Amino acid sequence: MILIVDDKPENIFSLKTILELHAFPTDAALSGEEALKKILRHSYALIILDVQMPGMDGFEVAEAISGYSKARDIPIIFLSAASTDKKFITKGYTSGGVDYITKPVDPDILLLKVKTFYRLYEQNSELNRIHASLRSEIEFRKKAEAELKDAVKKKDEFISIASHELKTPLTTIKAYLQLLDRSIDGNDPTKMYMERALVQVRKLDNLIVDLLDLSKIESGKLKFNKKIFNFEKTLSNAIEMIRQTYPEYQIIQKGDAEVNLYGDEMRIEQVLINYLTNAVKYSPDNKEVHIGISSREGNRLFVQVKDFGIGIPKDHQSHIFHKFYRVEDSANRFQGLGIGLYICAEIIRRHEGEYGVESEPGQGSAFYFSIPVGSQPTETVTE
Ligand code: ADP
Repeated sequence: MILIVDDKPENIFSLKTILELHAFPTDAALSGEEALKKILRHSYALIILDVQMPGMDGFEVAEAISGYSKARDIPIIFLSAASTDKKFITKGYTSGGVDYITKPVDPDILLLKVKTFYRLYEQNSELNRIHASLRSEIEFRKKAEAELKDAVKKKDEFISIASHELKTPLTTIKAYLQLLDRSIDGNDPTKMYMERALVQVRKLDNLIVDLLDLSKIESGKLKFNKKIFNFEKTLSNAIEMIRQTYPEYQIIQKGDAEVNLYGDEMRIEQVLINYLTNAVKYSPDNKEVHIGISSREGNRLFVQVKDFGIGIPKDHQSHIFHKFYRVEDSANRFQGLGIGLYICAEIIRRHEGEYGVESEPGQGSAFYFSIPVGSQPTETVTE
């Protein structure tokens, strides 16, 4: 809306007529005082202000408007006598949106100026609106991000505390079960139940160990006890463990593992067991797993665990080493948390190694890692 301020009603009438003919809505005030009151109550796109008015003149009105934060950006067109100096007109009014028209008013010039200012006002309002909405969007995102971090933080704390609290009683249960198992004669029919219970307890134990590792990775506290060790021994330990747990599976080793590595033996064994457990778990219909060992580029050991199971669709392959990632199609058929490979990836990375998978759905998967062959300092280093 355009506010016309003039002490003469006939002037207001003629300006109103011209503007409304061109679809500009108008409002009017017969004095500076009345104009200021209206400006405080309504929002205007433009003010057409007569300079010579009894009481407050146009300049005084403009000066007063410049003090209102709500209105100081409204452009003003002064209606003045021909001789008025433009510098004087703009005194006290700094928005830049100021112009003047000499009396008698030429309707074409008036319309031209009004159109320009009106368009400017609309563009400004649009910019302000976008600015405000961007600002509120940024505020909203900042808040959501902070809340999310706080969620995530609480979840990490919960996982850490819960897994610690679960670990202690479970270790005790496992110890008693093992004692009981040893005390039961091999022919006793309850032995079978005892062994089944132990298998489940071991699974639970592994889950909790994984959760503890996850918390350690998140808090940067996953420690490595690196030294030179014999890979052959580590690999046979891992294979032996898998054979005991899954006697129906055939684990076939190809290649020579007689090599010294520099790293954390327990952690490398953990990676092997994880790859092997997955190979078994995701091959319910084919009970053969191949382990390939080779040396690449002379100074890297390359280890591959190949199964002939369900395989992994191409579009999932780049994600499976990410935290909590599980292939949706098979997630319901196979139990798991989706953190085993994430931990493996961290362990291999921390050994300056590389990892990955090659897989064909329905044909099987080959998980591999490669790490530098050891010729590192012989003393024990904890990092
Ligand atoms: P989990 O097995 O507990 O879900 P992992 O981090 O070990 O977690 O594996 C992540 C996902 O990668 C699994 O959920 C599965 O979808 C896929 N995956 C891992 N190993 C294999 C494999 N050998 N064959 C097919 N899919 C696999």
